[in-house]
Amino acid sequence: MRPTGPLHLGNYHGALANWIQMQDAYDCFYFIADWHALTSDYENPRMLETHVRGMILDWLSVGLSPEKSTLFIQSRIREHAELFLVLSMITPVPWLERNPTYKDQIVQIQNRDLSTFGFLGYPVLQAADIIMYKAYGVPVGIDQVPHVEITREIARRFNFLYGDFFPEPQVLLTETPKILGIDRRKMSKSYDNAIFLSDPPETIAAKVAQMITDPQRARRSDPGNPEECNVFSFHRIYTDPNTVFQIDAECRTAKIGCVECKKIMAKHLSEALAPIREKRAYYEKQPGEVNEIIENGCARARKEAEKTMEAVRERVCIETKRP
Ligand code: SF4
Repeated sequence: MRPTGPLHLGNYHGALANWIQMQDAYDCFYFIADWHALTSDYENPRMLETHVRGMILDWLSVGLSPEKSTLFIQSRIREHAELFLVLSMITPVPWLERNPTYKDQIVQIQNRDLSTFGFLGYPVLQAADIIMYKAYGVPVGIDQVPHVEITREIARRFNFLYGDFFPEPQVLLTETPKILGIDRRKMSKSYDNAIFLSDPPETIAAKVAQMITDPQRARRSDPGNPEECNVFSFHRIYTDPNTVFQIDAECRTAKIGCVECKKIMAKHLSEALAPIREKRAYYEKQPGEVNEIIENGCARARKEAEKTMEAVRERVCIETKRP
């Protein structure tokens, strides 16, 4: 996960909720991809350290467990850069140029110069991140599937050139509930429409009050359609089923107004996020414990990465023993 700022509900439902569940079924490696953040934000790295720290706090507060999973920071494991370099030698440029995300972002993101080698090559770094741990699978949303495919192609090419070594990782497709921002666009920090996991109740209430509801319901006396309402999607996740049933009926008959409906939702959302806020407050006061969690996670990851790189160096005939 790229550390670009505080995590929001879209991040939670799109990835973290699934990651938390996977901890019991798999030996998971989760890392903060700070080098990846540089591929697009290289001009403005000043906030990077703050975002890395914030992300580890967010992770711990939602329930990613350092006992169950390996939590680490990418740049602390220098082997990722070394494997990226080796894989760069064998990855044909057209594979990267046809990457749909690359083509899309080059057009969409106009306020930054992304015509860099690093931005074109970030799927190679991703491949290094994944195959370093000989991953069986990568949990991704549908839009990330092409990246895993490039990783599989790169792993295949390495194996073809230097003998079977890396398994081809599987796509572990994640079904996620649709969570939109308060303006009904995709929830994103850059759209300024996000509800953050660390938002206090008053901020949540203020943001929910601004949420766009059923666009056809112009007046209080108009019946609404919950299926068309973003507030109702949140009710479905955070409010108890009986209340959801009641709101559904009352919205359709204009018995309930949007102001009241939003207040009910904000209350339930705020209550659901309370344990996350409390855990975050705990970890904020325990910097030593957090540092230790990071150190231990990095040490575990490094051990695996060193093993992989020793074998890789041997296969590409680069001196294994270092002076
Ligand atoms: Fe949406 Fe609730 Fe308003 Fe109905 S009453 S349109 S569900 S906010």
